[in-house]
Amino acid sequence: MSDAQIVELAAVTKRYDGALAVDAISLKIAAGSYCCLLGPSGCGKSSTLRMIAGHEDVTDGDIMIGSRVVNDDPPAKRGTAMMFQSYALFPHLSVAENVAFSLRMKGVGRDERLGRAAKMLDLVSMTEFADRPPNQLSGGQQQRVALARALMTEPSVLLLDEPLSALDPFLRVRMRSELRRIQAELGITFIHVTHSQEEAMALADMVVVMNDGRIAQAGPPREIYNAPRTAFVARFIGGHNILEDRGRTITLRADDIDVVPAAEATDAHRRATVSEIEYRGPDVRLGLETDTGESLTAVMAERAFFDRPLSPGTSVAIGWRPDAVHELAHEA
Ligand code: ADP
Ligand code: MG
Repeated sequence: MSDAQIVELAAVTKRYDGALAVDAISLKIAAGSYCCLLGPSGCGKSSTLRMIAGHEDVTDGDIMIGSRVVNDDPPAKRGTAMMFQSYALFPHLSVAENVAFSLRMKGVGRDERLGRAAKMLDLVSMTEFADRPPNQLSGGQQQRVALARALMTEPSVLLLDEPLSALDPFLRVRMRSELRRIQAELGITFIHVTHSQEEAMALADMVVVMNDGRIAQAGPPREIYNAPRTAFVARFIGGHNILEDRGRTITLRADDIDVVPAAEATDAHRRATVSEIEYRGPDVRLGLETDTGESLTAVMAERAFFDRPLSPGTSVAIGWRPDAVHELAHEA
């Protein structure tokens, strides 16, 4: 494998026929790290990834890989490889020959290319399927082959655009941990586009939350979750209540709200009514309406809830530790 490389964007902008898709974003992705670009549909994630890959021109700004500005380099010269959402394997070639395809194009002999493909198939746990045609593989298996094929070019940066979105939830979680393992084993830089906050938090060293062509916040998952900068980030990442509190906008994590029977209310508590209860297995989600007219969500561990179960319509008292309050920046 090649060395890991730092990827740096400096005021990178993308316009399609005048429509602004990516708005002067600047970002440093550490060499050998796992970075997730996270945001709602249309926020500019794929455009950003395609510009890094060289599949899309940069309208303005610079993309650097290592110490080189790559704006004018063709994709094959950037040291990047892209794994697409549709795996597009060649139906007439075996799994091993699909993986070895880039080497075949370079004129590498059969034994050497199949030897190197075998190592890559081992990395993605597909050794036993080497001789099969792609149409005899499940979706998840095809995806592993596509991953092995992308890695065959020995990229220093692997780019993945929503690689897990076509898989069922069970496979998605399994493949997600495989991706993390493979990235750690290879030590190269991964840049992974997703609209799933859960996926980004599970995978990334750095989550880059995008909104409307801009970076809303970038940082490690725990920082994003515990200290969202804006209301947009708090809403998108989930698990937070956003409140007006004495002229400031604050967030309060749903699992930081204590809910007790109304009889136990102290001066520090607020009064509320349970509006909704949703059982979720490990925990229970409560919809609450406060006496001051705010709607809040609280999450209680399953056991704590069923020690003293509540039902819709019950009056309760709610409270939180002062340090559970996180203040948001004023901009939207
Ligand atoms: P995401 O991957 O976050 O969903 P995209 O980067 O695909 O977002 O798209 C960002 C914006 O650019 C959207 O408004 C989209 O419609 C527009 N866009 C994307 N690709 C093209 C294109 N090839 N031509 C014109 N507009 C495009
Ligand atoms: Mg996209």
